[in-house]
Amino acid sequence: MTYANQTDFLEALSTPVEKLCKHCDTKITFKRSTKVFCSDNCRKNNSRPIQNAQSSPAKAREQMEYFDRVNYSYELYLDNRTQEQRDEWIQAYIDNPTTKKIVCNPALLNAKTINIAKIAHRYVMKTYGVSIKDYY
Ligand SMILES: [Zn+2]
Repeated sequence: MTYANQTDFLEALSTPVEKLCKHCDTKITFKRSTKVFCSDNCRKNNSRPIQNAQSSPAKAREQMEYFDRVNYSYELYLDNRTQEQRDEWIQAYIDNPTTKKIVCNPALLNAKTINIAKIAHRYVMKTYGVSIKDYY
């Protein structure tokens, strides 16, 4: 955008512009037309890798905690030295009802990288000949 003079430019800057926040879709009136977020929080949250929790910081936090749990479980699994100990650990893990949401998560099961859900799936396939979903 070009302006005839500085006064026009300053006036354009101070003219409120109605926009939707790029992150949360809140309708906001901006004084600066280049601004795209309603708040610093939305600007920060928008650059986070987890995009499906965009509109809710609480949901975003819940997902972060969920993936922390997933990663932590895998570390705990690896802490077991022998395969036998690991099998025992994974059996106890899948028998804990609170872990179902992790071991049956399709995104984890289809992920390219190894994770606790894939280990649980391989374990029940090997031990019971069924998929992790059929196991439950
Ligand atoms: Zn926003």
